[in-house]
Amino acid sequence: MMGGFWAPELKYAGYDKVILRGQSPDLVYIWINNDKVEIRDASHLQGKGATETAELIRQELKEPKAQVAAIGLAGENRVFFASIEQGRSSASRLGIGAVMGDKGVKAVVVRGTGDINIAQPAEYMALCNEVLEYIKFRNQNPIPGVMTILQGLGSPQEMQTHDEKWHTENFMWGNSRVRRRDFWNDDVKKAWTQTLENMRTRLISCYNCPMKCAATISPPGKPTYMMKCFSKLTYTMAAMSDLDFGLKIAQHATEYGVDAFSAPQVMAFALELYENGILTDKDFPGMPSDNEERFYWLLDRIVRREGIGDVLANGTYWAAKEIGKGAEAYAHNNIKKHEQLPLKLSMLNPVYFLMYATGEKINITQIEGQFPQMPYPKREHREAFVKDWFQVPDEKFKQYFLDWELRGENSNPYYPTAQMSCDIVDWQEKMHYIDDALGMCAGLSSFPLKPPYHIHNYPKFISSGAGIDMDEDKLSQAAKRYRTLVRAINISRGMRRKDDKPPEDHWKKRFPELEEELLDTYYKFKGWNSDGIPTKESLDELGLNYVSEDFIRRGILADGEDASPKENSAGKVPE
Ligand code: SF4
Repeated sequence: MMGGFWAPELKYAGYDKVILRGQSPDLVYIWINNDKVEIRDASHLQGKGATETAELIRQELKEPKAQVAAIGLAGENRVFFASIEQGRSSASRLGIGAVMGDKGVKAVVVRGTGDINIAQPAEYMALCNEVLEYIKFRNQNPIPGVMTILQGLGSPQEMQTHDEKWHTENFMWGNSRVRRRDFWNDDVKKAWTQTLENMRTRLISCYNCPMKCAATISPPGKPTYMMKCFSKLTYTMAAMSDLDFGLKIAQHATEYGVDAFSAPQVMAFALELYENGILTDKDFPGMPSDNEERFYWLLDRIVRREGIGDVLANGTYWAAKEIGKGAEAYAHNNIKKHEQLPLKLSMLNPVYFLMYATGEKINITQIEGQFPQMPYPKREHREAFVKDWFQVPDEKFKQYFLDWELRGENSNPYYPTAQMSCDIVDWQEKMHYIDDALGMCAGLSSFPLKPPYHIHNYPKFISSGAGIDMDEDKLSQAAKRYRTLVRAINISRGMRRKDDKPPEDHWKKRFPELEEELLDTYYKFKGWNSDGIPTKESLDELGLNYVSEDFIRRGILADGEDASPKENSAGKVPE
């Protein structure tokens, strides 16, 4: 679910997962104290911030060591991009906080003091020590030739870096439209360094991790909160402001419990509609004239679902539909109805096209990872890179990378070829699905280049840790089953090929025929039909017979063949 300390505490309490079924009529919190589980009244916590809630519950229970995963006002009001906050981490994407709010659960609180049993402790500890040594090695030997945030391990080390030239000059500002190529200069660097140094009180880790990806931030006169990764810049860049503003408004946003990718873009989108006359003064009664104040004002309205905030709380995709009057053209940075990183590029990259278009996790950072994002300009550098690349599942990936050129025949968009692109995407997403199934941090596995956890040592961890007989093939098959099941759930809700597309303006140079070929090849590779629906044969092969039967019963797949009935290409779900 998230990093931090909550999940290990749950394990010490004796559980692997918490499944919430149904809905509470009144606001409650769940108190898991080792074997004892209680559902307690949370009416007194209604409207409280996520961090404030955690503190109040610890005091109420007299359990200063209890770990609390809580929602803020955004989750209570079912804002579509509400998060669950945990003090040292958060689960933010896809509105998971709104799901918790809809269930009437303000917080899940855990205290665990039991033991953890390991099937083969000596073997398991030896593996842990190997990983630890490798992390030390990688920390001392950053990968050369790639941007700073991709050189190391962990969640991108945004809280340690003062050099923001790359993000501020390559990512888009405002509603993901404005690129400021000459933004970063010595004055900005000096001011932002001072801001971060003044507000960053401590670098912090998740439980038992040697990395320190997050930081506690203490803005003057405001409570301390946790921040990590690109959320450092999202509010700053959406508001065209500075780091001081970004770190201060993020404190409010964390208490309210909103996703730091979506929330700033939704606010910038609203202001762009206002500037272009699609929304008017009538929609923003009492909105301040100061740019930064407007962001605070909008944030307050969104989490309370007041006035225009009620429309914006559904995210740019749905808000644009409701507003009409051409607003949909301004909701330009979505994939499958969710706001994305504000990144706009030139030449189509076939691997990234597939990851954006077909990804079910609706966020490129949850799919990309172990294969470099760009070719190295010189072959000798590529040769150096592949030399110690032992994480590859197959030697062919080294060759794919060695032959990838910046220009010429072997460059984007026609290289990597469609088949190679499928292989690469399959490897990337497999690792992310394995991480999610294991509850592992992507920052040490699926996300960075040359990570310490990979397809070759994961089966050994599972075998020695859990006593399950595991090897690479079985693990790959389990990941495929999981990925297919997620696809099937979305298919059952109406998703089809028409939805498999990146944001329209993500790349300036597009290649419609190639993109169709990429999708066709990927679907075939995955065992899906031309509409992106897993075929009966591939579902049955994975032991998902109950899914294929359901698809046939509902007319999503035609009986006895793997085509989808005609009307489904329009995305209709048959009754
Ligand atoms: S690597 Fe992962 S688990 Fe470790 S501190 Fe960073 S985010 Fe947390």
